[in-house]
Amino acid sequence: MSSHAILPRSFTKQYPVAARAHGARIWDTQGREYIDLSGSAVVNFIGFGNDTVVQAMAEQASRLPFVHSSQFTSEIAEHFAAEVLDFAGPAFEGGAVFFTCGGSEAVETALKLARQFQVETGHPDRCEIISRQQAYHGSTLGALAVSGNLSRREIYLPMVREFEHIRIPYCYRCEFSCELGCDDCGRKYADDLRHAIEHSAGRAAAFIGEPISGATLGAVAPPPIYWPAIASICKEHGLLLIADEVMTGFGRTGRNFAMDHWNVAPDILVAGKGIGSGYAPLGAVIVSARVVDALRKGSGMLIHGFTYNAHPVSMAAGSAVLAHIREMELVQAADSEHGSIGQAFMQALHLLEEIEAVGDVRGLGLLHAVEFVRDRATREAYPAALKFSGKVAAAALKRGVLTYPMQGSIDGTRGDHILLAPPAVELDRLLEAVHLLGDAIREASDQAARS
Ligand code: PMP
Repeated sequence: MSSHAILPRSFTKQYPVAARAHGARIWDTQGREYIDLSGSAVVNFIGFGNDTVVQAMAEQASRLPFVHSSQFTSEIAEHFAAEVLDFAGPAFEGGAVFFTCGGSEAVETALKLARQFQVETGHPDRCEIISRQQAYHGSTLGALAVSGNLSRREIYLPMVREFEHIRIPYCYRCEFSCELGCDDCGRKYADDLRHAIEHSAGRAAAFIGEPISGATLGAVAPPPIYWPAIASICKEHGLLLIADEVMTGFGRTGRNFAMDHWNVAPDILVAGKGIGSGYAPLGAVIVSARVVDALRKGSGMLIHGFTYNAHPVSMAAGSAVLAHIREMELVQAADSEHGSIGQAFMQALHLLEEIEAVGDVRGLGLLHAVEFVRDRATREAYPAALKFSGKVAAAALKRGVLTYPMQGSIDGTRGDHILLAPPAVELDRLLEAVHLLGDAIREASDQAARS
């Protein structure tokens, strides 16, 4: 019998009971301290225990805890939406925001918006969403349909509508063996989209992708040419470009949004996680003016909604988090090239490369992954059954360091990694945690060598 009343993620794992958190640290009920090197699941960006955020939420809950979007808008929601549009930049001028309780709801919304846009603009046949093979866009059935993460979707496949998935450029394991060089290689991967569109025979409505592939492959950024090439193919063929920035948005990669690294403006931008930094359940769909106008001039309504759209307490949290990000210049601090935290963090991570089991250290800003290999020269992964990244995470946890392990493919041949995405605070603690992580990797690889 389970000892928990909460349905657990794993019935075999013993979960510590969290009691409180501050900055980059969480304490359990036994008083043990954990350094949050993964931002929980790439959520915590501004650090826990921010009194201004907490006060803003409490005041909002006391004044107006809830209204339903079929009856009211609210001052805090309108205010926050305007701030988010401003933060998203000039490409979203005249646009609008739809707020949700998290990433999956936001992805669902984006997919439906894309479909509605096509119908309203006279393309009722366009109903296919093209996505990518090792993508993760959420756990609801629509988001799973466009996800490529096999382990998370396998048993639900009979329940989801299959869409076409194209390859993700993954430089460490490039399918073209890097013979082409980054530009040609990036174009070649983008050409997959062209082929998928041809295949769809005029039925493609949108393309969705994570600017930096997060949960499945682990912080994989594409060659610089890739996203501009994808954007121009979408434009040429009448597809909306949906950027899933649930992991990468709101400063995480050292830019407001990761697409800013390549100056690409998507038609729809999806956010979650860092937008609320863990203070409240929150996601957002940031919609460009072109899409908003199509709906306004078309049916004049949004055929979609959740009870908790734009929940006032979440709006207050998001607004205070964003104000803090701006005031403390946390986006700049997270930048891995020049940022006060991002740069030192990345440099410390690269020191892990001296450990044999570390195949690749990659990422941008405060979103990184360490991929493990049994053999550096051939890049051969550890056998999947060994769950090496899980072993590293367990050894790190023993040392009070939180990481996010993931096997990029079920057969374990690629992408066995841990994701590291700390908040942009307490640099000393983060560096201490990276040092402890090195010990954890050594312990796991010694164990693996003996097994
Ligand atoms: N999109 C991406 C890129 C994600 O990483 C995630 C969560 N890991 C989601 C969507 C789903 O977000 P949520 O878990 O908040 O529903």
